[in-house]
Amino acid sequence: MTAKTTHSLLTGQVLRSLGGAVGRTIGKNRVCVITYHRVLPTPEPLLASEPDIVKFRWQMELLARCFRVMPLHDALRAVEAGKVPGRAVCITFDDGYRSVHDLAAPILREFGLPATVFVASGYIDRGSMWNDRIIEAVRALPAGQLDLSGMDLGTYTLGGVEDRLQAVELLVERSKYLPPAAREQAIERLEALAGIDPEQKPMMTRDMLLGLDRQGIEIGAHTVSHPILTSLDDDSARHEIAEGKAQLESILGKPVRLFAYPNGKVGKDFDERHVAMVREEGFSAAFTTAIGALASGQDRYQLPRGRPWDERPLMFGLRLLSWLAQKNP
Ligand SMILES: [Zn+2]
Repeated sequence: MTAKTTHSLLTGQVLRSLGGAVGRTIGKNRVCVITYHRVLPTPEPLLASEPDIVKFRWQMELLARCFRVMPLHDALRAVEAGKVPGRAVCITFDDGYRSVHDLAAPILREFGLPATVFVASGYIDRGSMWNDRIIEAVRALPAGQLDLSGMDLGTYTLGGVEDRLQAVELLVERSKYLPPAAREQAIERLEALAGIDPEQKPMMTRDMLLGLDRQGIEIGAHTVSHPILTSLDDDSARHEIAEGKAQLESILGKPVRLFAYPNGKVGKDFDERHVAMVREEGFSAAFTTAIGALASGQDRYQLPRGRPWDERPLMFGLRLLSWLAQKNP
C-alpha cells in the first residue's frame, strides 16, 4: 500500500466517522450545495478559484466515498420531509462552460454522481462571458502600461502573474456594475489592445446541453445574459429571468425548475423584487452564493451554496462537515 493510499484511506475513515456524528446530532436534516463554474485542463494562476482536472477528480472521489451526493431536487424534497440522510451534499456548476461537458461530466459519470448545471441561456452556441473576456485579454496583453483612464477604468502596470491577477480583479470589479453597453465597449477596447480574436467559444453548445440532460444532469436557469439584476429596471430583470427559463425549456423540451441568481450576493446582486419574480415565473427554488447548508424553514428562493476552498482532501471534507454542523450559517 502506498503512503498516498494509506493517507486517503485515513481521510475517508475520519470523515465518515465524524460525518456520522454530525448527521446523528447537530447537522441533522441539512444538505451542503457545492458550487463550481468550470474545470480547467491544467492549473491556471488567473483562475485560481477553479479546480484543475486533478483537483476536481479527488474532490469527486472524496464526495463519492465519504458523503451522500444527492440530486438537488431530491435534496430539497428530503429537507422538506425531514428525511435527509447524514453527510448529504449536492454538486452544482454555474454559467454553462463547455468544460463541464468535456471534463467534469465524464468524472461525474465515473463516480455515479448527480449534479445540476445553471446555464445563462444567451451564451449557448455563442461566445464568452464578459468576465472571461477580461481574463483572456489581460493574459494576452503585452507587459507595460495599460491606460484605461479614458473609460474611468484606471491605469495598470502589467508584468508577471501578480500584476495581472490584480488588474483582472480591479477590472472585473470596476466593470461589474457598468451598464451593459458601456461594459461591452470597454471590453472590446481591451480585446483590441490585446489582439484577441472575439470568436473564441468556451461555453456549451445546445448539443452539449442535451448530452448532459441525457446523462441525468439537471439543467437550471441563470438568466439570459448574466446581468447583475439590481442594475436593471424591473421589466428588463423580469425578461432576463423569464426568457432564460423559456429558452432552456425550448432546447430541453421539459420544465426548468431551479434558478441561480447571477453573482448571487444577497441584497447586492438581487433583492426582494427579483425573489418575487423568480417565484412568479414558476421556479420551485432559487440559489444564492451565501455560504451555508440547506435546512428546513429557509426561504426556498434564497438558498445558500458554497465550496470549500481547501487544498487538502481532509480539510475540504472537514469544512463541508462544519457547514453541515452549523446551526445558523
Ligand atoms: Zn454565474
